[in-house]
Amino acid sequence: MTDTQVAPTLEQAGDTTGTASATHSVFNPATGLRIAEVPAGTAADVDRAVAVARSAFTSWGRTTPAHRAGLLLRAASVVEGAAEELALLESRNTGKPLGLAREDIAGCVDTLQFMAGAVRSQQSLAAGEYVEGRTSMILREPVGVVGAITPWNYPLLMAAWKLGPILAAGNTCVLKPSESTPLSTLRFAELLEDVLPAGVLTIVTGDGVVGAALAAHPDIALISLTGSVRSGRAVAEVAAASLKRVHLELGGKAPVLVFADADLDAAADGIAFAGFGNSGQDCGAACRVLVEASVHDDLVERLITRAESLVVGDPAEGDHIEMGPLVTAAHRDRVLGFLDRALGEGVRAAAGGGAPDREGFFVQPTVLVDIPAYAECVREEIFGPVVTVETFTDEDAAVAAANGTAYGLSGSVWTENARRAADLPGRLDFGTVWVNDHLAFATEMPWGGFKSSGYGRDLSAYALDDYSRTKHVMVNRTR
Ligand code: NAD
Repeated sequence: MTDTQVAPTLEQAGDTTGTASATHSVFNPATGLRIAEVPAGTAADVDRAVAVARSAFTSWGRTTPAHRAGLLLRAASVVEGAAEELALLESRNTGKPLGLAREDIAGCVDTLQFMAGAVRSQQSLAAGEYVEGRTSMILREPVGVVGAITPWNYPLLMAAWKLGPILAAGNTCVLKPSESTPLSTLRFAELLEDVLPAGVLTIVTGDGVVGAALAAHPDIALISLTGSVRSGRAVAEVAAASLKRVHLELGGKAPVLVFADADLDAAADGIAFAGFGNSGQDCGAACRVLVEASVHDDLVERLITRAESLVVGDPAEGDHIEMGPLVTAAHRDRVLGFLDRALGEGVRAAAGGGAPDREGFFVQPTVLVDIPAYAECVREEIFGPVVTVETFTDEDAAVAAANGTAYGLSGSVWTENARRAADLPGRLDFGTVWVNDHLAFATEMPWGGFKSSGYGRDLSAYALDDYSRTKHVMVNRTR
């Protein structure tokens, strides 16, 4: 199918079919052309989906970990079997290079496989006699129906990061993908229709109206959102009325501390990979470089070379494309607005600085230097291929500058000094700190933020904990 054709409307997956007659148009951001229409769900769709999920929970919530693990492993195989189709769909809907989309799908498979194993080997306090004559034990139970809301930057990967632990723990789920990028999630649900029992997973497409209805719904026990700080606040406020549990993975503004003793080529490679990868649309993007003043020019020179040599284009042109467009025209305009204001404040674009002259929602890989203190471009999450470079003169100043942000998701330290490599992660206020690396993930290790970046953890056994509840059972053996 070419981009001038509009795909047939995809039905919502699971047991609900949309009642809404309105639709959202879905675009290929590399061409700007419309590729599909999906139903704009309503609160009534959410009501019906939650009723189905609630009914399915009565049996799914009582299955054994081994049973759920078996189905998750089957789901992982089905996704693996359709990996190329899903990667192409993801690439076409998000504009990300095909290689990156393939990595996303591999990450989905790994997450489902990991959660299948993790739920069969959970840890907890030892059962025993903590009060004379009584035996205490811990039960780990599912919470019930979980509402999940995902963003557009890694649509299927973020869905898998939620669904893996949610379903493994014995919950049922109503999931709302981003209105801009629902296609891979819809196809995923379609593929799993024969794997998961009816009602265990239901997709409702739509915008924040659907998300807000999930957050407000009295029969949803926990609402989990990956998205912006603004949406996170809105969800937490609405969820407060029913005191439901909230799991938030929000934005970031990752500092990258580069010391004079670092391997500058490795640091520049890491910054280019993690700052321009996925067009910088990554909550952990290496976007705010803080470099020791004595090596500022050496690092900037290397960053310019890397920014200017990136192959930017429509991922459909082939596997050689390293950076695609931004996800929507509105988001491209938002990023260009940040650049205009930065340049107006006296910031200098050492590389890039605007939009290339071509179709699609592209922004040039950009390196900003000569940045005044407290400039907007180093405070706010730009979420585009924009790396800012500031300087520091000593370690304490570097740590203070890095921590001087409302965000607390991730950051990195680049140094060859062993003491510094061991000491600085403990002084940095971020949920993940890399040393001589950036944006490397392990499914066994948690991902999540502090401060305005939210609370709750994705990946690892901690995610299973987040989607479970702990019950103390005490048996009096004397009566
Ligand atoms: P967004 O907040 O605009 O949208 C995220 C999701 O929330 C979408 O499905 C959207 O429809 C929904 N939504 C919007 N308003 C809502 C409301 N009032 N109530 C309920 N749901 C609502 O975010 P986005 O633009 O899709 O994604 C980019 C943001 O996501 C960035 O800030 C990025 O840092 C963050 N993000 C964080 C992580 C992480 O792991 N911490 C991962 C990916 C993206």
